[in-house]
Amino acid sequence: MAIEVGILGATGMVGQQFIALLAKHPWFKVTWVGASERSSGKAYRDAAAWRLPTPAPDEVSNLVVEQAAPGKAPKLVFSSLDASVAGEIEGAFANAGHFVTTNSRNYRMDATVPLMIPEINADHLKLLDAQQAARGWKGRIVTNPNCSTIALTLALAPLRQFGLKAVMVTTLQAISGAGYPGVASWDILGNVIPFIDGEEGKIETETQKILGTFSGGAVAPHPVVISASTTRVPVHNGHTVSASVKLDQKVTADAVIAAFNSFRGRPQELKLPSAPPQPVVYLIERDRPQPALDVNRDGGMTVTVGRLRPCPVLDYKFFALGHNTIRGAAGAAILNAELMREEGIL
Ligand code: NAP
Repeated sequence: MAIEVGILGATGMVGQQFIALLAKHPWFKVTWVGASERSSGKAYRDAAAWRLPTPAPDEVSNLVVEQAAPGKAPKLVFSSLDASVAGEIEGAFANAGHFVTTNSRNYRMDATVPLMIPEINADHLKLLDAQQAARGWKGRIVTNPNCSTIALTLALAPLRQFGLKAVMVTTLQAISGAGYPGVASWDILGNVIPFIDGEEGKIETETQKILGTFSGGAVAPHPVVISASTTRVPVHNGHTVSASVKLDQKVTADAVIAAFNSFRGRPQELKLPSAPPQPVVYLIERDRPQPALDVNRDGGMTVTVGRLRPCPVLDYKFFALGHNTIRGAAGAAILNAELMREEGIL
C-alpha cells in the first residue's frame, strides 16, 4: 500500500523534481500539492511552468494546487518552499502533526533539527527526540543541506578517516540552483557571477554539522575549517566544486581514491530505493567530472570526483560534481524519507 505524500512548493524547480522522481516511486505516491496563492485553486498543469525534459505525470497534472496550509495534506510532506516563507509554513505543518522533510535553509542549523546526508550521518535522526522535547510539535522536521554542501560533503566524508583539517573550496553552480525563472539570461549568458547570497556561510557551517558527531543527545560539529567561494555559471544542472584539503595523515593518492570509491553508508546497507549503489565515484579520465557528461549518473544521486592531485599549499586537490536539484535537493529529501521509514520513524 503506497504512502501518500504532499509537496509544499510543488510548482518550483525542486518541486518539479519531486514530482518527476516520485512518479514511479515504490513506496510514495503524490496526492497533494501546495504552493503560493498565485497558484492555489489552479490545476497543477496550469500553475507550474514545467521545465523538466520528462512530461509531468497525469495524476499530478490533474491535482488542484492547494494553499500551503496544514489541514488536508497527508502526514508526510516534502518541502521546497521559497526560504522567505518556509520557516513559518513548515513550522505550522510540524505543529499540526506532519513529518516535513525539507530543502529550505530555515531549520538546517537548529540544534534539534537533523541536517541529513544519510550515507554520512544516519544516526543524527536521533535528534528528533530532542526536537519534540524542545518544540512540542506533534510532527517533525528533517532537513537536507544546501545543494553545493551536499556535493562537497559527500566527497569529504570518505576523507574523515585521514584527519580532515581544512578545506578551501570554490563552487561553479548551475542556473537551476536559483529556481525559476532564476537569473536573467542577460546576466548569466557568457558570464560568471562571483556572488550567491548567503551561500558561502552555508557551505562553511552546514558541512561541520553534517560531519559532526552525535553524542549525549546533541551534534558536536566537526572541527574542520572551511573557506568557501561561490560562483554562478551558465550550466543548466550540476554544481561543480573545486576543493583543496589538508589532512592530518600523510596518505597516498591511491589511498584517497580507494577511500572515495569504497565509501558506503546506511542507505546502501538498507538498499533504499533512491540510494545510488556507490555514492561517490572517482573518474580516472583527466578531464572529468563535467556537468554535461556526468551529472545524471545513477539517476542524479551519485557524486562524481576527479582530477585528484597534490596541492602545493594544502595536501590534495580535486573536483567534485553533484546534481543540484536531485542529489542536492529533491532526491536528498526523498532519501531522507526512505531512511525514516526504514528506521521506523514515519
Ligand atoms: P522556486 O523555483 O523559486 O520555487 C519556489 C516555490 O515556493 C514555488 O512552488 C512557489 O510557489 C513557492 N512559494 C513562493 N512563495 C510562496 C508563498 N508565499 N506561499 C507558499 N508557497 C510559496 O525555487 P526552487 O529552486 O525550487 O527552491 C525551493 C527551495 O529549495 C528554496 O528554499 C531553495 O533555497 C531550496 N533549494 C533549491 C535548490 C536548487 O538547486 N534549485 C537546491 C537545494 C535547495 P508559486 O509557484 O505559487 O510561486
